[in-house]
Amino acid sequence: MVTKKDIIGAREAIKDKVHYTPVFHSTILSKQCGYNLYMKAENLQKTGSFKIRGATNRLTNALNEGSLPGVITASSGNHGQAVAYVAQKAKVPCTVVMPENAPQAKIDAAKNYGAEIIFCGTTSQERLDKAQKLANEKGHLYIPPYDHPHIIAGQGTIGLEILEQVSDVQAVLVPIGGGGLLSGIVTAIKESAPQVKVYGVEPQFSNSMYISLQEGKITARDTIDTIADGLRSKQPGDLTFPIVKKYVDDILLVTDEEIIKTMKLIMQYQKLVVEPSGATATAAVLFNKLPSKYKTVTSIISGGNIDFSRLASLITQ
Ligand SMILES: *Cc1c(COP(=O)(O)O)cnc(C)c1O
Repeated sequence: MVTKKDIIGAREAIKDKVHYTPVFHSTILSKQCGYNLYMKAENLQKTGSFKIRGATNRLTNALNEGSLPGVITASSGNHGQAVAYVAQKAKVPCTVVMPENAPQAKIDAAKNYGAEIIFCGTTSQERLDKAQKLANEKGHLYIPPYDHPHIIAGQGTIGLEILEQVSDVQAVLVPIGGGGLLSGIVTAIKESAPQVKVYGVEPQFSNSMYISLQEGKITARDTIDTIADGLRSKQPGDLTFPIVKKYVDDILLVTDEEIIKTMKLIMQYQKLVVEPSGATATAAVLFNKLPSKYKTVTSIISGGNIDFSRLASLITQ
């Protein structure tokens, strides 16, 4: 299990390489929802999402253990961008395995960060197998998106920052994909200030953490349907699930419509560009999913990577 000590270690390892992101208070949105609402702006993080925290911690620890011929990831989304960025900074070659039908924007983003791109199949399993096979053959390090102690500890650094920035916080809301972000943050908070409530938030039709907690064991969803592309995990991770099970107060569910409305509200009043996954936790506050009336709450805006054409079509819906 990851502990607060690991998260403090991660903070030391990444402190000169990632932003200490701001927390914004919104008077209008607070009035609207009845909570004193703060938002932790990881959309303003380097590479546009929090994923760089875990990726930096993983790479820094690996480099401390010895030289590294290269790193590999199977994600073309925010995690892939984060890995490519930190590898380039550390002058370590990076390979990103992408689906044969990857959109040009994602191919270009990875190339811009100096990554070599290998195309393989169309399913995430094919890419994962390919990445792990390449890693074994070449002696490169495979960096997973959430299920590793260094990744979890890196994401957990956000929890330490929130406790410093919002000293009277009573509840923290975190979006869930594979659960790396939530398991890190909930560990940091429950092992520092156990009275603070921590809620995970999932899209209604991508709710494998919710289902798994109900079943008491890791349980997959066969069909995933959400616009929040960073939250389309079929099941929680082997490492993240037990942490979430131990510490989280509850899982809240939101609809895609609520996510889109929240993207618009954050843009209109906070002037922040947010991707659908990044608006999910705030949607749970604005659409009244919290089970009690807290005074002060903080939601994580986890990322802001969205291309203009998609943003335009979502906000004019
Ligand atoms: C990856 C990601 C998430 C989910 O994080 P997990 O650690 O997989 O739970 C949420 N929001 C954004 C923007 C992401 O990129």
